[in-house]
Amino acid sequence: MKKFFLVLLSLGFMLTACQQEQKPENPFFTEFNTPYGVPPFDQIDDEHYLPAFEEAITQREADIDAIVANTEPPTFENTIVAYDRSGEMLSRVSPVFGGVRGANTNPRLQEIAREVTPMLSAHSNKIRFNQELFARIKAIYDQRKSLDLNNEQMRVVEKIYNDFARNGAALPEAKREELKALNEKMSMTSLQLSENLLAENNGFKLVLENEADLAGLPEAVISAAADEAAKSGHEGKWVFTLAKPSWIPFLQFSERRDLREKIYTAYINRGDNNNEHDNKALFLELMQLRRQMSEMLGYENYAEYFISEQMAENPQNVYDFFDQIWEPALDVAKAERQQMQDIIDREKGGFDLEMSDWWYYAEKLRAEKYNMDEDEIKPYFSLENARNGSFTLANKLFGLTFEERPEIPVYHEEVEAFEVFDKDGSHLAILYIDAHPRPGKRGGAWCGTYRSGSYDADGNKIAPVVTMVMNFTRPVGDKPALLSWDENTTYFHEFGHALHNFFADGHYNRTSRSVPRDFVELPSQILENWASEPALLKEYALHYETGKPIPDELIEKLNNAGNFNQGFANVEYIAASILDLDWHTTPVDADTDVNAFEKASMDRLGLIDEIVPRYRTPNFGHIFGSGYAAGYYVYRWAGVLDADAFYAFKNSGDLFNQELADKFRKYVLAGNAHWEGMEAYVNFRGQEPDIEPFLIQSGLK
Ligand SMILES: [Zn+2]
Repeated sequence: MKKFFLVLLSLGFMLTACQQEQKPENPFFTEFNTPYGVPPFDQIDDEHYLPAFEEAITQREADIDAIVANTEPPTFENTIVAYDRSGEMLSRVSPVFGGVRGANTNPRLQEIAREVTPMLSAHSNKIRFNQELFARIKAIYDQRKSLDLNNEQMRVVEKIYNDFARNGAALPEAKREELKALNEKMSMTSLQLSENLLAENNGFKLVLENEADLAGLPEAVISAAADEAAKSGHEGKWVFTLAKPSWIPFLQFSERRDLREKIYTAYINRGDNNNEHDNKALFLELMQLRRQMSEMLGYENYAEYFISEQMAENPQNVYDFFDQIWEPALDVAKAERQQMQDIIDREKGGFDLEMSDWWYYAEKLRAEKYNMDEDEIKPYFSLENARNGSFTLANKLFGLTFEERPEIPVYHEEVEAFEVFDKDGSHLAILYIDAHPRPGKRGGAWCGTYRSGSYDADGNKIAPVVTMVMNFTRPVGDKPALLSWDENTTYFHEFGHALHNFFADGHYNRTSRSVPRDFVELPSQILENWASEPALLKEYALHYETGKPIPDELIEKLNNAGNFNQGFANVEYIAASILDLDWHTTPVDADTDVNAFEKASMDRLGLIDEIVPRYRTPNFGHIFGSGYAAGYYVYRWAGVLDADAFYAFKNSGDLFNQELADKFRKYVLAGNAHWEGMEAYVNFRGQEPDIEPFLIQSGLK
């Protein structure tokens, strides 16, 4: 009987297919017919996205209509589960489009994004404001305590209800219309801000023609600049850009103070050049829209709105949190400034340290105090070593193994694909690694999914497809890509996010895929701790030529250097976090002077002139979208968690303590569907986090 039904179904599909001929050619229209269900990148054409989005939206609307049209009274299954599973095709096309657009965009994809963004936001508004749907969800929410739901089911009911309430479903109709318009405006404004920033990033090049301009630069930095010149039509010259792997080494090593100032000024002024890509007015517009939206929903401001869903609960808790570390950090930064000024004076430089000098003298200080420079370290940290180190760590803690799968289609020839196996040898996930910068790749490093782990309707596990994207130093000549210590650490960081994605285990999309923002950096940041532990370094940090493990004295220097420049690092970071919070708690209007606001905010903190917030307002890409708006603080918040959590391993006397690793996997990495924030943490750790390990780890104590 079941077989017969299936035949009928597929016949039905064929009939539909004949009527609409183009559909089978568009790979998004069916489940991906690929190994492990990965996206068929080799068959996806840019022109597939738009029709796929259109169809996916239509299908999801039909799913929602079916929930509403159900004549049965609302139940957990026919309403909550049905809603949670709606839009299967959309969850196929959206992550692929988003992933490729971040890692490998082109003008056509940008154009499609402009078309799709308002479509998607109109679509989600339509659902958010669907009163009949909300009424059914509310009915379940109101009777949830008498429905005999388990913990995971209870949480999904509450989360979904709360999503609607926070989006204004309970508002009167006229207000709902207003909110819809606001949402659309906000997403277009965010998009424009990001596009301006991309244009500003690409719009500046420091082109050097004379060898004298290269004074002080290491050979590897010079050849990378020559490669960049060749790629950008300046053959025979040297080009430095506003990408971090380009401008940071230039600032660290160039003896040309004038040129250092030139490139750094260009970097910090992105979006603030009063040209067609200026972001100041647009940013103010976004701040006003966000405030309007928050007020309509009953929150005082956007920070209240955002943080109420986080582990921190409210903005004041975040301000208080930074209060505890700002002064110690600033004191350390001032001491660093003095040490650098001493070098300048000793060299009879005859000038005061300025912000564009910081990296150069920090590098000298590093060499002087720790007798270590990046070039001494880099040969031990090839890209391959970073990968092996991460894989080894995952094996020691969780028993995972990895195998390269060259047959898996990728979206760019540089991307590598791996299959991940669980402790028992079963398939756990697919992992893509995309390591180097390209035009069309967003700056920075991130981890995402092309498919989240979940269960199908029959309860079969669907394995996640995960991606790590970075902008790391390229191989130069016949040398492998040799990473800076910072890049190596970032590798482990992103790999921590990947582990979180491998393990996330829940039956409902809403709860298994979402983690509070101030918790989500715990799995990534804790891995950075292992990256610098001698026990692991000896296994993965092998010289790329001799194969010899990193010597003890270098490890010692590396770990001393871990505390180096931490005053600066913490101060520039906290300054940006406070700037973000100030923008999202303070009312502004179109006449607000963005730069004056920024200055007042920093003056209140007592920020010193030699340090600029890590991101200035017009180029603060993290807060243009909703992801980290009023939430840039989350990295340090999670820093307290990760330092405390790692201390548990260290204090147990076994860095790879299996009992702790099992708990960490269960409560922190896999258990988001069941426990959240502090509850998850306390389940793992047995107590709330303590701030001490963080202060010590950050060199602030
Ligand atoms: Zn992260």
